[in-house]
Amino acid sequence: MSFASDVRGELARQSVTDACCARSELTAALLCGGGIAWRGRGRYAASITAGEAPTVRRYFAMLKQFYGIIGQIRTLSGDALNNQTRYQLAVADEDAAKLLEALGLLDEAGLFGLRAVPAEETVRFACCKKSFVRAAFLMCGAVSHPDRGYHIEIAAPSEALADFIARQLQYFEINVKNTCRKSKYVVYLKRAEDISDMLSLLGASGAMLAFENVRVKKEVSNRVNRQMNCDNSNINRAVSAAEAQIRDIRFIDSEIGLDKLPRSLRDMAIARHNNPEMPLAELGEQLDPPLGKSGVNARLRRLTELAAKLRSGEDVDL
Ligand SMILES: [Zn+2]
Repeated sequence: MSFASDVRGELARQSVTDACCARSELTAALLCGGGIAWRGRGRYAASITAGEAPTVRRYFAMLKQFYGIIGQIRTLSGDALNNQTRYQLAVADEDAAKLLEALGLLDEAGLFGLRAVPAEETVRFACCKKSFVRAAFLMCGAVSHPDRGYHIEIAAPSEALADFIARQLQYFEINVKNTCRKSKYVVYLKRAEDISDMLSLLGASGAMLAFENVRVKKEVSNRVNRQMNCDNSNINRAVSAAEAQIRDIRFIDSEIGLDKLPRSLRDMAIARHNNPEMPLAELGEQLDPPLGKSGVNARLRRLTELAAKLRSGEDVDL
């Protein structure tokens, strides 16, 4: 299984309980899946096509639960050019116009009576914004294994739709970039932190942790290489020690939560996290009661050891 299919598998398993989110996901799936066709005189065909069966089953279940529509799933075998099986969920023609109407996609003024992008009310709430991006990713998203570089993208069929997707991510302060490639409008992210944020935003927290593990390993080995290659002044060492401590603190927080630590360690973790550049003696003065340099050192070392244990999966005793 590739990292990308792990991510898609995890996203396809996210439960949707609210009608607002189901509406938003189905809208994105139809628009990004490119499966709306005009049949003339107010009639339409609607289908959702994806490379993975669980994605299609997800939308089958949503259509049934929230719209009372029973779709039809079929397997499309690959052709000579692209030997990949695809799965299609088709909605009967008599249900298609009703569905498009319910999703707010009909618009008399639009080309073929359709909206090119959804109305803003489709993504009124934060939950629906996430849902929209999740479906867009399931339909036309891709993500690289972190070993091979940091890249996640959604290749939308139109520029307007790509802009719409970008705006949903920007709402969560994820800064996307845009490009155009082979008649697709691509919204993408290159920064590891942004990719991590996007994965957890969409609900792929297992994939996010796997991503972070690879990333931490890579950063540590990069740092070791950098250190071997350059002249290590004391100041460099102090800065990289602090960087490692902050990474450890964030890791502990993501694994067990800082609030689970004894107060002495928690206060230390917060003080270091908030003051990455501060020398140890000054750091000790931030604590209540204040602590000397060697005490600070000892507590930071305990945090590092705790993070190492968590990484290696050992039991920890707090
Ligand atoms: Zn919602």
